[in-house]
Amino acid sequence: MIERDERLFPLFASVETLPKIGPKSTKALADRGVSRVIDLLLVLPRAGVDRTPIESVIGQDYPTIVTVNVTIVSHQPPQRRNGLYRVFVEDAKTRFQLVFFRSDPDYIRKQLPIGAKRLISGSAELYENQVQITHPDYILENPSALPAYEPIYPMIGGVSPKSLRHAIATGLTLLPDLADWARGGTLPSNDWPSWVEALRQAHQPNSAADIDLNATARLRLAFDELLAHQLSLHLARRDRKRAEGQSFDVKPDTLSPAIEQLPFRLTDGQSTAVRDILGDLAAPTRMNRLLQGDVGSGKTAVAYLAMVAVASSGAQSVLMAPTEVLARQHSAEISTWAAPIGLRVACLTGRSSVAEKRDIIARLSDGRIDLLIGTHAVFEAEVDFRRLGLVVIDEQHRFGVAQRKRLGDKGDAVDVLIMSATPIPRSLHLAQFGDMDVSLLTEKPAGRKHIETVLVPKDRTEDIISRLKVAMNEGHQAYWVCPLVADSAVSERMAAETRFAQLKGALGRERVGLVHGQMSGEAKEAALIAFSTKETRVLVATTVVEVGVNVPNATIIVIEGAEGFGLAQLHQLRGRVGRSDQASTCVLLYSPPLTQTAEARLRALRDTNDGFALAELDLQQRGAGDVLGVAQSGLPRFRTANLEVHGGLMARANDTARLILHENPDLTGPNGENLRTLLHLMDQERAMQFLEVG
Ligand code: ADP
Ligand code: MG
Repeated sequence: MIERDERLFPLFASVETLPKIGPKSTKALADRGVSRVIDLLLVLPRAGVDRTPIESVIGQDYPTIVTVNVTIVSHQPPQRRNGLYRVFVEDAKTRFQLVFFRSDPDYIRKQLPIGAKRLISGSAELYENQVQITHPDYILENPSALPAYEPIYPMIGGVSPKSLRHAIATGLTLLPDLADWARGGTLPSNDWPSWVEALRQAHQPNSAADIDLNATARLRLAFDELLAHQLSLHLARRDRKRAEGQSFDVKPDTLSPAIEQLPFRLTDGQSTAVRDILGDLAAPTRMNRLLQGDVGSGKTAVAYLAMVAVASSGAQSVLMAPTEVLARQHSAEISTWAAPIGLRVACLTGRSSVAEKRDIIARLSDGRIDLLIGTHAVFEAEVDFRRLGLVVIDEQHRFGVAQRKRLGDKGDAVDVLIMSATPIPRSLHLAQFGDMDVSLLTEKPAGRKHIETVLVPKDRTEDIISRLKVAMNEGHQAYWVCPLVADSAVSERMAAETRFAQLKGALGRERVGLVHGQMSGEAKEAALIAFSTKETRVLVATTVVEVGVNVPNATIIVIEGAEGFGLAQLHQLRGRVGRSDQASTCVLLYSPPLTQTAEARLRALRDTNDGFALAELDLQQRGAGDVLGVAQSGLPRFRTANLEVHGGLMARANDTARLILHENPDLTGPNGENLRTLLHLMDQERAMQFLEVG
């Protein structure tokens, strides 16, 4: 059993134990994920107000927040009900007014008796050439009761700023003096305060510099949060590795015949990835690997070879794609590779007929299928494998991380390979996939030509169409992507149909195809097949072509309404061309005038083909949540760390976590205790179960 440090108990108590937090506030806070004292302490100020007393309110740049010592001179109660109550006061240089609306006169008299001295703080403004402060924020008898610099917290759940501040200040007094887990050299900087000290400093800023996300206290808190997260991922991963897997008997030359059959030579990256995977398959532990590579880097071939290796030891593999179209396409490509070496491939999707499905299920259960390719349908309850050894998931960000955890259920200790084409910045990558081994395909297959990207305002659409006609007559093929219409598949379809009709008129009826999200699976597939067999030359499409569609002969992509797409999405779309040794072009049609960020986005895209560089930019522009689509990504929500600002610390936290677990695998001894405390504080309790009893 893991025992908790008793000194931490008050931090894990409900926020309701704090002053000024009643049942209503407690509920409101809980709705925002703040239920315990520690949660509240991790809500950090987002700004601050300087309340350093000044000599006089005169000569300020109004309206401005002032703090000033005054003497009360006289009162002017309202003439009628609910009128203004004025109190005239005097500072070192001038006389001015405090103004109250609808306030209780008795209360005002009691607070501000004539002749008394008070410290007043509030927003001073000019009204008919007179300085006045309406409803001062503070009226204090004791001037030292006000900090010179006051933290402003994000509004949470309708709790008043004063109550929130008070509750947090009380919470801070409950912080025990925890020993620092960090030792010389383990933090990115030696100038950082301890975690406890950092938390105090963050809540007691002295100036705007202390609110900055790069202030040392903020960096320390962010780092510790990321470290706890990385420790937790590393522990989970170690645990999964210890879990028993199947050990496949694969030798280096097992794959030679399959590799010889491929219509191309593997890139170095592909060979290395295959070697990594063979190592995982041979090991008695479970494989949990991410294969990451930009669009067109050839991930499918790597997955295929992994499946061949598994088949050679008599087990089955399944490859799951996010869409019907992709599943069919993978199946078609892989079948041509697998047939000559005698492997049996089947494709199962939601559209498979009942008879077809029954047949596939029968052949799977008695082992007459080696490679199954499909959509979610492959994980339906009735699908039973004779011996499932490997699960491959393509474009996993479409599936959600929760499903990834459920995968193993179909077989004993299956190995898992996930393929992702979304280049994501390293910080996000570590946050999301820190628990996986990673193989990267950094290079594209040889001979690929650069994709020329041009920005064209939409009033030149006719020009583009005439050029398309020329290119088409020279045998080229093109995608025409229609604008994204937020939340409306119907308007999106209409835009596509209009453009389709127009292009048919301009380019010839038979030569233009159409594919959009509202078409049936069969119709979509038929449109793609017609395009890939060159029956149609131009394919008008909505973003259904975004992911993975592979027609190497297509060398032109026109993206209409380009300013409406995200950077990562544009890069994905552009990746539909440049898939052969022919030069390719991407035309970004936009409606001027562009906003600054849209312009930056389109220019970045024009100037680089490097998906990783674009991903970094996307992160800066849109924030982590949007880049990954937080809802599906399973990306943890950090409280003190902000990945846009603190992303660089993630890699450090990852290294530090690895080092710590290398030196102290089960977090034992005094330093281990301190680290366990950190895990508790950062809500990483789950990780504890992976530690040997300490
Ligand atoms: P992605 O990584 O985007 O999934 P694919 O696996 O769809 O890429 O590969 C893109 C195209 O490149 C496919 O037509 C595939 O057959 C081809 N390809 C894969 N590997 C190589 C290689 N080493 N040399 C040449 N072409 C390759
Ligand atoms: Mg792919």
